[in-house]
Amino acid sequence: MNINIDQDKCLRCGMCTGIAMDIFEFDDDGNIKPNNDKITDENKGEVEEAIASCPVGAISNTAEE
Ligand code: SF4
Repeated sequence: MNINIDQDKCLRCGMCTGIAMDIFEFDDDGNIKPNNDKITDENKGEVEEAIASCPVGAISNTAEE
């Protein structure tokens, strides 16, 4: 997986960080930063849940497996 956040769409609602806090973090500017290097087989289900839960569809996986 390779997660990308559309910063123009993102509402900074925190939903994704609540679901997968290791992967989705707020940076110092208040934007969501994806930690792609921390995605594992164990937590990728949470990442998929976060993608599905984002209210504006701002999270995309640019490396379909
Ligand atoms: S769930 Fe979507 S809108 Fe909310 S902070 Fe995450 S990327 Fe942004």
